[in-house]
Amino acid sequence: MENGWWSKIVAAAGRGNEGWFLENIKRRLGDGRGTKFWEDSWVGRESLNISFHRLYRLCENRKVSVGESGRWVEGVWVWDLKWRRELRDCERETVKSLMDAISSFVPTAGTKDRWTWRAATDGRYSTKSTYDTIKSKRSVNQNQRSEVKTLVSVWKTAAPQKALVTAWRLLRNRLPTADNLRKRNIMLGDVNQDCPWCHAHGENLNHLFLTCSKAQELWDEIQSWTGISSARPSSAAAHWIVFSECGKEKKVRNLLKTIWVGCIWLMWRKRNEKIFEGKDWEVKTLVREIKIRSWCWNKIFGILDPDMDLSRWCCDDLISHFL
Ligand SMILES: [Zn+2]
Repeated sequence: MENGWWSKIVAAAGRGNEGWFLENIKRRLGDGRGTKFWEDSWVGRESLNISFHRLYRLCENRKVSVGESGRWVEGVWVWDLKWRRELRDCERETVKSLMDAISSFVPTAGTKDRWTWRAATDGRYSTKSTYDTIKSKRSVNQNQRSEVKTLVSVWKTAAPQKALVTAWRLLRNRLPTADNLRKRNIMLGDVNQDCPWCHAHGENLNHLFLTCSKAQELWDEIQSWTGISSARPSSAAAHWIVFSECGKEKKVRNLLKTIWVGCIWLMWRKRNEKIFEGKDWEVKTLVREIKIRSWCWNKIFGILDPDMDLSRWCCDDLISHFL
């Protein structure tokens, strides 16, 4: 599509309330010179200044293009992002998550970036596809809208950014499991694509985090520790909602959200350690780590009262202490 014309429409839509329009356009990379690294949506549906907001605030140049954010070294594209100051360890971890997210995008020298229209299979804008998009948007009911709102609340959870990024990517089905990599046409070659824990065929997020026997064992332990008894939906988004809504008071709901994010982040780490280093893990040990980390995060964020020490926090029926 013609770049100048589209850029004007995109700028106009950005000023108004045309979220549906912005959701349906995507930047297709050429040499990356005409696409803003942080502010244009070229990886997934969100721009990186939203999904990696803390890094965006630290970057040296917020308007830098994708093409200026790396260079070719002996035929291989190497990302080279510049920061306003030395990064802390936790920020380096977030940069690793960012690198994971953009690893499959490589600029193509000699071609210009262009806009494509997601609503049509050929990427070309048409009145009919626009009409269909608006119609389907209107049919999204109130429940779905409130579900999206609840998912977004993950960003307000008392946990480090790297853990929030992992939880958010799970909720949006964007963690790089074998099935997601296949969907993005990334060749996995000889890599084992089964569940690393129970060897069930075809690794996918809902199995890994929720329905795998190992995950079930972990959630059993977490439920008896927290004292909540709830249904266990087999989709991550529904699980997040049901789990966090188990608290009657807002404070308890916030604590449960931190625990949920801690579980997800540490499970994902264990998954990676198993795949890349062959390390196994014990459910009891991981639960202990989740207890300690979630206690620290809640303390740091000032959510826990001073008399809630670690030994009290680790006792069973946790939420009964807040009634
Ligand atoms: Zn499994």
